[in-house]
Parts: sequence; C-alpha cells; structure tokens
Amino acid sequence: YSGNKESIELLNRIYEIKVGEIKSVPVVVDEKTSVYDAIVSMFLEDVGTVFVISDGYLAGVVSRKDFLKTAIGGTDINKVPVGIIMTRMPNIVTVKPTETVLEAAKKIIEHEVDSLPIVEEKIIDDKEYLKVVGRISKTNITKLFIELANK
Ligand code: ADP
Repeated sequence: YSGNKESIELLNRIYEIKVGEIKSVPVVVDEKTSVYDAIVSMFLEDVGTVFVISDGYLAGVVSRKDFLKTAIGGTDINKVPVGIIMTRMPNIVTVKPTETVLEAAKKIIEHEVDSLPIVEEKIIDDKEYLKVVGRISKTNITKLFIELANK
C-alpha cells in the first residue's frame, strides 16, 4: 500500500458509493409465469437470477439452481408457475438504493447468493411492500472494482 493521497481517496470512495449508483436493470416476472417462460427470460436477458413479483411487489427470487432442481425433478415446467419453486419472502435478502456497495457485498457473501434485488419500501395499511427498482450482483461489484483500479 503506497499510502498516497489518491489511494486514500479511492479507498474512501469505495466505502461511499451507493448501491443506487451502480445498479442494473432487474429482470422481473409475475409469480403466475410458467417455469418455462421464466427460464426463457433468464436466457434472453442474460442474467442468473430472476425476481418474482406478486401484484407488482417483490414475492421471491429464482436462480439457475432452482430451475435445474425443478427440471431434473421431473416437474412439468410448462404447467408449474414460478411462484411454486421460488425462494420466497420474507427470506429474500434485499438492499436499499441508499445502502453502500460494501454493505451489499457483505450481504452477498454472508448469504451466499449471486445478486440482490434493490428495493424501495412502501407502507400500505401498516403492511410493508417492496418495489423492485434494480439489481446488484457480483458482476456489478467486480466491474466497479476494475473501474476504480483503472482511475
Ligand atoms: P445459483 O443458483 O445460480 O447458484 P444463487 O447462488 O444466487 O444462484 O442462488 C442460490 C439460492 O439462493 C437459490 O435457491 C435462490 O433462489 C436463492 N437466492 C438467490 N438470491 C437470493 C436473495 N437475494 N435472497 C434470498 N435468496 C436468494
């Protein structure tokens, strides 16, 4: 570590950058979507995780492994909706746009997942709903790492 001024500024910047600044577009499907169509979305959008919504709010997450499990289990992927096989709320690990990238990275490692939905909270009749506004993944964080190194 050279300890020069630029390095210190760079380090500070890593701790300051908010999730909202490096987010990607989330790939979202309704819970009633068939597993088949959700797999197609995953391929077309080139992601590893698809977020599932119910009435417009976050209901769950499906990943590559969830799809593989379902496929090798002999499920009729044309008939079964994605809502049946997803990992569901309240077990979804999320971040807010105002949280730092460091906090998101810690959550990803702690919970052993590839990506997190970025959410905004809405309170309706004392119940909490989460609107999906973005996605942060290991790829985003790795890209940021390279970007900062190139500066
Ligand atoms: P992959 O299946 O490609 O290895 P992950 O490691 O992200 O992808 O997913 C592992 C498991 O964790 C899956 O069952 C998935 O549904 C679940 N999962 C993925 N992302 C989240 C998240 N943000 N919160 C909770 N569970 C998640």
